[in-house]
Amino acid sequence: MLHNKSAIVTGSTSGIGLGIARALAAQGANVMLNGFGDAAAIAGLIEELRALGVQVRHSAADMSRPEQIAAMVAEATQAFGAVDILVNNAGIQHTAPVHEFPVDKWDQIMAINLSSNFHAVRSALPQMRERGWGRIINVASVHGLVASVNKAAYVAAKHGVIGLTKAVALENARSGVTCNAICPGWVLTPLVQKQIDDLAGREGLTEQAARARLLGEKQPSLEFATPEQIGALAVFLCSAGADQIRGAALNMDGGWAAQ
Ligand code: NAD
Repeated sequence: MLHNKSAIVTGSTSGIGLGIARALAAQGANVMLNGFGDAAAIAGLIEELRALGVQVRHSAADMSRPEQIAAMVAEATQAFGAVDILVNNAGIQHTAPVHEFPVDKWDQIMAINLSSNFHAVRSALPQMRERGWGRIINVASVHGLVASVNKAAYVAAKHGVIGLTKAVALENARSGVTCNAICPGWVLTPLVQKQIDDLAGREGLTEQAARARLLGEKQPSLEFATPEQIGALAVFLCSAGADQIRGAALNMDGGWAAQ
């Protein structure tokens, strides 16, 4: 379905971004991977996706650095001839009460989880508008819709991502460029594993008990959403069936936000 389309997926060396990159490549899209990690592991991912018959590259651009974001978009445009699909996914977490929240962590979360989306959109959007087709998918979070304690920066940034999503969708509503947000609940990735480990350590729980506690507190299905499921939603958002989904925040959260 996405043969002859090219995508950038930020933060795609791990977790949800990798799930989305795999799903887009499986539909025939060329993919610019991005994110940090072990060079051999990243080379392995590139080989894995190239075996699907698509072009694959990796950019080590730091999403907290606007000039590196612009350079990544330029590199993908030159390598693939176009950027048709932009998935803003890179994100980090830090938990602390707001009055103890480290100022540098606040700034870092705002830069990576929110401002990077703006910088990537402003770089990639003009060519999408020129061609009359584009898909911008921002991986927000259920924390873009509701809050939890000790996550002030993350919650503020993700609410901001949903606001940005709506603004971009509206500005491009009469074009073939759509912009939507995906709002996952708990997904078992390294970002969440760290929170499971912290909880287990803090409360003396086994890892399994800590996982069950995390799900039990928030996610009524008591099951994690998976990177594959989020990849499938991203593919749908790239399809013609999603032409009139604009400015939406689609939660995939096991019922979290329905409570
Ligand atoms: P992850 O830690 O598995 O992956 C994060 C990716 O972002 C990695 O590829 C990492 O290298 C990259 N990254 C981090 N900082 C970067 C930077 N400065 N520049 C470039 N790349 C950077 O995390 P994940 O759980 O897959 O999270 C992906 C996105 O999904 C994030 O925006 C996160 O907020 C969101 N999300 C995750 C969950 C969840 O339960 N895991 C739930 C809701 C939303």
